[in-house]
Amino acid sequence: MHTVPAVDAAHLPQLLKAMPKAELHMHIEGSLEPELIFALAQRNGVKLPYAGVEDLRRAYAFTDLQSFLDIYYAGASVLLYEQDFYDMGRAYLTRAAQDNVVHAEIFFDPQTHTQRGVGMETVINGLYRACRDAEIEQGISSALILSFLRHLSEEDAFATLEAALPLRDRFIGVGLDSSEVGNPPEKFARVFARCRELGLHLVAHAGEEGPPAYIWGALDVLHSERIDHGVQAARDEALMQRLVRDGVPLTVCPLSNLKLCVVSDLAQHNLPQLLEAGLKVTVNSDDPAYFGGYVNENYLQLFAATGMNSQQAWQLAVNSFDASFVTPQQRAHWMRQLEAVFARYAALA
Ligand SMILES: [Zn+2]
Repeated sequence: MHTVPAVDAAHLPQLLKAMPKAELHMHIEGSLEPELIFALAQRNGVKLPYAGVEDLRRAYAFTDLQSFLDIYYAGASVLLYEQDFYDMGRAYLTRAAQDNVVHAEIFFDPQTHTQRGVGMETVINGLYRACRDAEIEQGISSALILSFLRHLSEEDAFATLEAALPLRDRFIGVGLDSSEVGNPPEKFARVFARCRELGLHLVAHAGEEGPPAYIWGALDVLHSERIDHGVQAARDEALMQRLVRDGVPLTVCPLSNLKLCVVSDLAQHNLPQLLEAGLKVTVNSDDPAYFGGYVNENYLQLFAATGMNSQQAWQLAVNSFDASFVTPQQRAHWMRQLEAVFARYAALA
C-alpha cells in the first residue's frame, strides 16, 4: 500500500491545481463561453435573444436544472458546422490542460444538434478532430461519450444511436442527461441494452435532483458503469452499501450542485461524507462555462469550503484515474506523475 506524503495546508491550493487528474463528467456544449457563443453567432449569422456577452452572462442565475437547460439549448444553437464543434472542443481541452487535466471523457448531446438539422457526422467529426489534435499538440488524452437526452423518447434515442453507429470508432460509450425528474432510467432500458450488446461503455446521470430509486434503476436496469452526480445516494443506506461493494464511481460536480441549488452552500456539500463512506467519488465541472468554473475551481472552492486535506485530494485524483475507461498501463503512468507532484509539495515543509 502506497503511503501518501502529507502536504501542508498552506500549499494545498497549489497542490490541487498542479496534481494530474482526469475529468469524467463534463458536457462539451456546457463549455461554450459567452465570448465563443457570440463569435460563432456572428460567424454563422445566428441571431441570439441576448444583447451581448454581459447580457448573456447575467442570465446565468439559475434556480434549478430546467432553468439552466433552457439557456444551454439557446447557447448551443450557434453550432452549425464541423469547424464550430472543433473550435468548441479545442477551447475546452486547452482550458482543461491548463488545469492539469491529463485525460477527459467528454459528453456530447447529438440530439441538441440533429434536431436543428445539423448532421451527426458534423458533430462527431468536429469533436473527434479536436480531441486528436489536442492530444498531438497539448498532450491531453480524451474520449467522447454520446449522451441521450432523457426528456426525449427512447425511439429518438434509438434513431440517434443508429445515426451514430457508422462513426462507432469515434466514441467510447453512451450516457443519459438532460431533465432528470420524471424521466427515470427505465425509460431507456431497451436502448441501453442494445448499447451493451454493442460493447459500448455505459454511464448515466442519476440522483442529481432525482431520488435514490433512479440510481438503483441506472445500476440494475441500465447497467451503468458510473453514476453521474449520484449525490442523492446518501439518502439510502442500502444503496450506499451497494455502491461501495461494487466500487461504482460517482462523478460529482460541486459547483454545478451549488449553482443549480442542489445544495445551498458548498460547506454543506456531502462529497466529504461520500468519500469517507468509501464511495469512489470524483470531482468534475459538468458545464464549466455556466456553473462558475473549470475543474480546478471545483476542487479549490470545495476544499476551501469543507476543510478537506491533501490525503483527500490524493484519493480524489486516484479515483479519477480508477474510474476512467483507460488501460491499466495508462493509469499507472498518471499515478507516477501524481506521486511525483505530491512528493514535490510534501518537500515544501
Ligand atoms: Zn452533467
